[in-house]
Amino acid sequence: MGERRRMKTRYRRFSYLSDLAGIKSSIGEMKGIGHPKQPPLNKDYRPGEDDPVLDEEWFINRIKGQLPNHPDNIMEYPFYGQPIFDAPLVGFIRGDDPILTDYKKIIGPHHYTPQEIMKWQADKNGVPAPSAEDLSVVSIIMPITRKTKEDNAAEKDWVSERWAQTRLLGEIFSQKFVREIVTYLMERGVLAIAPDVTPMFNKKRYPVVGWASPWSHRHMAYAAGLGSFGMHDFFITEKGCAHRAASFVVNLTLEPNRQRSDDIHANCLHYQGIKCLKCAARCPVDAITEADAHDKERCMKRVEASTKYVNKNFHIFIYGCGICATGTPCESGIPEKLQKKA
Ligand code: SF4
Ligand code: SF4
Repeated sequence: MGERRRMKTRYRRFSYLSDLAGIKSSIGEMKGIGHPKQPPLNKDYRPGEDDPVLDEEWFINRIKGQLPNHPDNIMEYPFYGQPIFDAPLVGFIRGDDPILTDYKKIIGPHHYTPQEIMKWQADKNGVPAPSAEDLSVVSIIMPITRKTKEDNAAEKDWVSERWAQTRLLGEIFSQKFVREIVTYLMERGVLAIAPDVTPMFNKKRYPVVGWASPWSHRHMAYAAGLGSFGMHDFFITEKGCAHRAASFVVNLTLEPNRQRSDDIHANCLHYQGIKCLKCAARCPVDAITEADAHDKERCMKRVEASTKYVNKNFHIFIYGCGICATGTPCESGIPEKLQKKA
């Protein structure tokens, strides 16, 4: 059943009141409250002979092997049983990678380093806080399915139903999926933490960057070499920009498996001097322009306004848009013209 009661054959009634899991998830995303308890660290765990080695291969196999067929990776009515996400991408960042402290300047001083986040978990469990070089971040990209992308690409004004469901159920699923790995590691005596399900996580408006959270999954994905940013601020990977990103911190040393580009816009046609701006043309409120790139404030207003539309039409409690991330050359992969150039 998962984190919420699955709607197999009908919509819920009075969804502004009855979609409790949706309301909880939305508040959790904005305010960092209402998440399940952190799993405790099993300090007495002694590794057995048959225990797997928790290396890069283990994480890749576990994530790629379990995610596509996970019982909670499913939509609900009227798409009940269809998957939310396709096979993921996985990357690693060393905890002492200088980019993680640079993010305090690039994103803002509010953005946590893995060490700061892990200190909270260590203190909570009464163990010494690990140093940065003993930590790693595991970054995951969960691509949205073709059907969902097609539905959103067909929309011009408001989010499609599949995309809205993916926003809500995908968030609940991704947090659960990561929590299962974190719980497994903590039971094995390895400190681990998913920053976005701690009380430190809340979205705020900051003077320089506007709306931002203190832990950016997408910046972790960039650091892990999984892609780069587009004009629309979505993160363009080899599977495109229509996806959900997740990340968590572990007290293990995992080596990066991908080469990071120095150019944070390497996969965007416009930034690479090739005519495009399809994302700008798709935005119903002109929140993307050649002069100012992505206007986060204008975008946020539109996205917030979508809650009413989604609730009325799709009977779930969530906001969303993603119109500019679909029907574009970067939707499902690195734009072909850039692949040819490379
Ligand atoms: S649609 Fe074009 S300009 Fe916009 S982010 Fe994608 S590649 Fe860049
Ligand atoms: S997500 Fe924001 S920028 Fe993109 S289409 Fe919607 S309102 Fe415009």
